[in-house]
Amino acid sequence: MIKENIQRILNELPDGVELVAAAKTRTPQEIGEAVEAGINIIGENYVQEAVRAIEGVGRSVSWHFIGHLQKNKVGKAVSIFDMIQTVDSFELAKEIDKASQSMGKVMSILVEINSGREPQKFGVIPEDALELIEHIGSLQNIKCMGFMTMGPRFGDPEDSRPYFVETRRLYDKIKHLNLPGIEMKYLSMGMTNSYLIAIQEGANMVRIGTKIFGEREYA
Ligand SMILES: *Cc1c(COP(=O)(O)O)cnc(C)c1O
Repeated sequence: MIKENIQRILNELPDGVELVAAAKTRTPQEIGEAVEAGINIIGENYVQEAVRAIEGVGRSVSWHFIGHLQKNKVGKAVSIFDMIQTVDSFELAKEIDKASQSMGKVMSILVEINSGREPQKFGVIPEDALELIEHIGSLQNIKCMGFMTMGPRFGDPEDSRPYFVETRRLYDKIKHLNLPGIEMKYLSMGMTNSYLIAIQEGANMVRIGTKIFGEREYA
């Protein structure tokens, strides 16, 4: 089932769009099946869950952190992930930079945009993104490679479109500034119910869980 799901998705993705398998709550066996079916990037929301998954699945694929990163987990996250997609404050960026420096590593990150400006959600609001990015550009051991956004949850994915459009505009604007130390390469947006719309609006990385693995029992 996982295999067929992935083949169906890979067949419909345009060239240049990367597929991240969002693996929260899935077993290492399920994730391993996804890798055999052609997945190259696994997205994990929890550091401890990722540790177990990486032990089971190995490092032939890239591991991206897509959850909310707590300060006390930064060191572990930096040591196991290839990219952290959810940087939303200079505080957090500095912690990641410090940990990366001590490990002799340069950590790839995305800045998470709170495109819905929802107070209860993580991410930097669009108005504050440029200032954050400029600050991040001054850090030596962290490399900003673009944006990630979730957007508000809707029953009708069409309602997500304006949030993707706004995030794309901001992405293009900052890309054209050619800021030192910043490489705007990835625009990570779209999940199971919204990825086709996200791609229409310029996403080149989509994060899909349910459509690959089936409905989640929790979380
Ligand atoms: C769970 C999750 C996804 C995937 O959600 P689905 O609706 O299951 O496709 C994508 N991005 C993030 C950050 C997630 O936590």
